[in-house]
Amino acid sequence: EILLSVKDLTAEVDGNPILKGVNLEVRAGEIHAIMGPNGSGKSTFSKALAGHPAYEVTGGEAIFQGKDLLEMEAEERARAGVFLAFQYPLEIPGVSNLDFLRVAYNSRRKEQGLEELDAFDFDDLIQEKLDVVKMDAAFLNRSVNEGFSGGEKKRNEILQMALLEPKIAILDETDSGLDIDALKIVANGVNQLASPENATILITHYQRLLNYIVPDYVHVMAGGRIIKSGGKELALELESRGYDWVLEQAATEV
Ligand code: ADP
Ligand code: MG
Ligand code: MG
Repeated sequence: EILLSVKDLTAEVDGNPILKGVNLEVRAGEIHAIMGPNGSGKSTFSKALAGHPAYEVTGGEAIFQGKDLLEMEAEERARAGVFLAFQYPLEIPGVSNLDFLRVAYNSRRKEQGLEELDAFDFDDLIQEKLDVVKMDAAFLNRSVNEGFSGGEKKRNEILQMALLEPKIAILDETDSGLDIDALKIVANGVNQLASPENATILITHYQRLLNYIVPDYVHVMAGGRIIKSGGKELALELESRGYDWVLEQAATEV
């Protein structure tokens, strides 16, 4: 089952073309890694898929479970099961993490035609999910991400993901700024949540995370395009050889 099909996607930011024709097909059950040099358009790609308003899609298509993703508002995409964990997670002062999670969870349930969970049932559920990410319940009563350390924010994202059970999860540089223990917890959470029904796109500059989450496919993005795709061994090759050889290879193929 194809969950996401992206064809010739182009996008710009402030009038600057950034994505120059991205092609990607993601089936249920797959984990894809997108790697590539800084500034190659990885975050732009994830934001364009999530519907971030600053990223203007100028061409191509993105079909999610048979629906035109590009026609949907960002909130609709989230409710439909597209989850984006940001490289720099938002802080929302004055809104408790618990309330934020409950609202997000219930709007996702509504979309699925299910009834809202009451506060008591939600409490039970969230305790279960806290265990997945080994997070202290005290975090629920704090404002969303406010004063959280880098590692705590990342764990909080995985908590959101565990709760929302997205169809497709896009994790943008979820490994950046994590110490090895936090990295393992994040990876463990991602691995536990991966199933034959959903898919994960991991965006990472380093292959470190891929020691813990084994991708089915590895793609190299450069200059706003995916210029090479391969299996998990490609990540190791990139780690030892860098990106230049891929860029040269792509240049001679054009
Ligand atoms: P990556 O995530 O691969 O490091 P990005 O998608 O963040 O790359 O950036 C790709 C290019 O788009 C960079 O040249 C960056 O400077 C530019 N860019 C990204 N966001 C903005 C923005 N808000 N305004 C102007 N340029 C941007
Ligand atoms: Mg980025
Ligand atoms: Mg728009």
